[in-house]
This record gives sequence, structure tokens and C-alpha cells, in this order.
Amino acid sequence: MTEADRLMVGVSGIRGTVGGTLTPQVACDFGCAFGTLLRRRVQGRPSVVIGRDTRPSGPTFRSAVVAGLLACDVQVTDLGIVSTPGVALMTADLGADGGVVITASHNPAAYNGLKFLQPLGTGLTAEDAATLADIRQRGLFEMVPPNEHPIEAAAADTHERHVTAVCEQIDLQPVARRKFKVVLDSVNGAGCLATPRLLGRLGCDLVHLGSEPTGAFAHKPEPVAENLGDLCRAVAESDADVGFAQDADADRLAIVDENGTFIGEEYTLALAAAYVLSRRAGKVATNLATSRMIDDIAAAYGSEVIRAPTGEANVVEVLRREGCVIGGEGGGGVIEPRVVLVRDSLVGIAYVLAFLAETGKTVSQLVADLPRYVMRKTKLPCSPEAATRVIAAATDAFTPRRDARLNDADGLRADLPDGWVCVRPSNTEPILRIIAEAPDAARADALSP
Ligand code: MG
Repeated sequence: MTEADRLMVGVSGIRGTVGGTLTPQVACDFGCAFGTLLRRRVQGRPSVVIGRDTRPSGPTFRSAVVAGLLACDVQVTDLGIVSTPGVALMTADLGADGGVVITASHNPAAYNGLKFLQPLGTGLTAEDAATLADIRQRGLFEMVPPNEHPIEAAAADTHERHVTAVCEQIDLQPVARRKFKVVLDSVNGAGCLATPRLLGRLGCDLVHLGSEPTGAFAHKPEPVAENLGDLCRAVAESDADVGFAQDADADRLAIVDENGTFIGEEYTLALAAAYVLSRRAGKVATNLATSRMIDDIAAAYGSEVIRAPTGEANVVEVLRREGCVIGGEGGGGVIEPRVVLVRDSLVGIAYVLAFLAETGKTVSQLVADLPRYVMRKTKLPCSPEAATRVIAAATDAFTPRRDARLNDADGLRADLPDGWVCVRPSNTEPILRIIAEAPDAARADALSP
């Protein structure tokens, strides 16, 4: 097995190549392991909600995971094709003991994966993820011959519930009156189903790219600049107000302005947070790798940003502990705890449109209102031991500086008056990630390796 093709088992779930490292046997074993984990903490028969993105391999892994869950006498509710936030919302709404999403998120079609959710819809804690991997590794499955006929219910109203929950967060009329023209690229992923409903409720005129739930990705399904050329052109050619791009499981969102220019993935959370803070006072939760824009926006509203170690579950933990009104990650992830405790592209879309309606501004004008920073991201091959030494050396270098604020919750983030740098080891690969941000390119380069 090559380094490039190995089953990745981490806090956020497992991911591998279809028919390579991720086989139906592996998926079934993880179904058994998750069923076993739930049996250890639930009285009686545990319940699990399951959904999948549009990848053609989805039905295979759905059947394999369900076989493992049923073998442990778990009651399963299958949502069919649905976004990650949709599965999370239904896990919480139905009071299930856990959730499973079959998705490889922004990874190409050759991949698939499993993501496991807690009862409130958020990802597993690091401790539970480690226990799950251990149960699977050692084959400690608690298979139970069912006393009753296993129940396999379906739930058909996921998209409607999700859209309704999102719409409850904004004033619909001012948005609908604007009759926004929106180009949406769902990349033929799970966002195809619920998102047009949302835009319909918001009175938008929709041009929908990648609108079929086939899993035939017209481009790599990561919503970053190099994959959004068609969307940018479509926005410009159709004279639209805004363009939105989702990844394959519709938790991440990227935005294209009315000129057809991609505004950068850091702006999704920035715009959503600016909108929410303009209406409600409260703190913001994000991770250590997210742009300083969020601090400037929070400061303008007399608010505070609480930074968590990288990883969605860590941000959610901080968000809940601190009672934040909004949370998220710089890579296009907005978390609205009133809707669901995971990143949700539908929330991001609704907030951006509501912000446009409320201010009467264009996307480029809203972006121009925000402070400008240049971010540099560097990946270096690095063993875990070497990463520890590099982080220790960086800590030693910054500690004497009185103007540096250090955060060592995950690697090191050093905030300086004119920029910041974050150095941390990857959780899944032998890589050191270095992110630097400053008001101009020269300073950002100076902070980078
Ligand atoms: Mg995703």
C-alpha cells in the first residue's frame, strides 16, 4: 500500500479510495464498531441516522455500514442522499443515538469515507474516535442476534426540515423582494436537493450548475479558486448578483461576487459572522488557522473571538462551552448553532443573501468593507518528532517578544501586531502546515518559511 493510498482514520472519520483502501468489508467493520460503541452507552436498542452524498459508490458503502449496524441490533433510519448538515440536523431532530454520513467531502470521486456523529449532530470527540478505531482494529464487536425484526425506517422530509430551520434564522421578505439572481454550483453533489428549495423560498432566480445528484463531478469538488472557473464565468455571463459553490456533502461554501470574481474562502465565515453580529450580540468560535478578519469584525461589534484547535468538533466544543452566537472555519465553513452543530453551506447562503438585502450593497462592496489580508499556506513534509522540535523552536523564538500573543492549543499560533503565523502538524499526514497572514504580501512572505 502506498503512502498516497492508505485508509485514513481520524477524528473526522475515515476516508479511502473506493475498492482500494476503502472496501465494503472495512465499512461493515466500522458499522459494527459504531454499533458496539453505542451499545456500551445506550440502554436497549441504539438508533442511528444514516445518509450519503451522491458518489456512485455510496449505495455499496451504505449497505455495508447498515449490515454492520444491524448485526449489532441498531435501529437504522436511512435518509438517502442528503448533505452532511442534513444528516446532522436529523440525528438531533429524531433524537438518535448517533449518525453516519457516507461521504469523502471535497475529495475526488475515487474516494469515499464515513463520518460519525454524536446525538446532537456534531462529530465524535477525539476520545470516541479513538475508541471506535480501537474496537474496529481489535474486532471487539458486540454482535447481538436480534430479538425483534430489525427496523429500517426511511425519512423523506430531511430537506424540507433543513430549509425551514435555515429560513427561520432570517427575515424572508426583504430577501424575496430583491429577487436575487444566483448561480449555484452544487458539483452534482448532495447540495443539489435541498439548496434549490432554499433559494426558491428566498425568491431567487436560480442558474444551477452541477444540479444532478449523480456524483459526476465536473471539477474537483473542493470549493477553492482553481475549481471555480465555470462558476465565475457563469456569474459574469448571466449578470447574476452572486455565485455560490458547495463541496460534495454541502457543508462548505465559497462565494463569487457580482463581477464573477472568487472572493476567497476565508470570506464566507467573515460575511456570515458580520451579518449575525449586526443583529445579535455574542462571541464567535473559530479555529487557530482562520483569518484575522474575524477578529476585526468581532472587535467592531464589541465582541470576542474564541479560538479552538483545528478540527470542526473542537470549534463546536468551544462554541457550545462559550455560548457563541456563530462559529466556523476559514475554509468556507459556517456553523449556526440554532440550525445544526456542523458546518452548513445553506446557512452561509441564507446569511449572505440576507446581508445583501439588509445593506443594499453588492458582494464586492461587502468585501470592500472588510479589512484586507494576504494569507500564505505552506505544507512541508515532516515527521511528528521533527514537527514537535520545530514548534518548540518557534515558541522559543516568539516567547521573548512582548508584542506577541501565543496560543499553543494546537501547534503554535503567534499573533503579532502586523500579522500572525500558525505552525501545526497535520492530524492525518506526516506534514507540517504553516499559515501566515498579514496586511500585505511582503509581510506575509516574511512570516512564511
Ligand atoms: Mg465537506
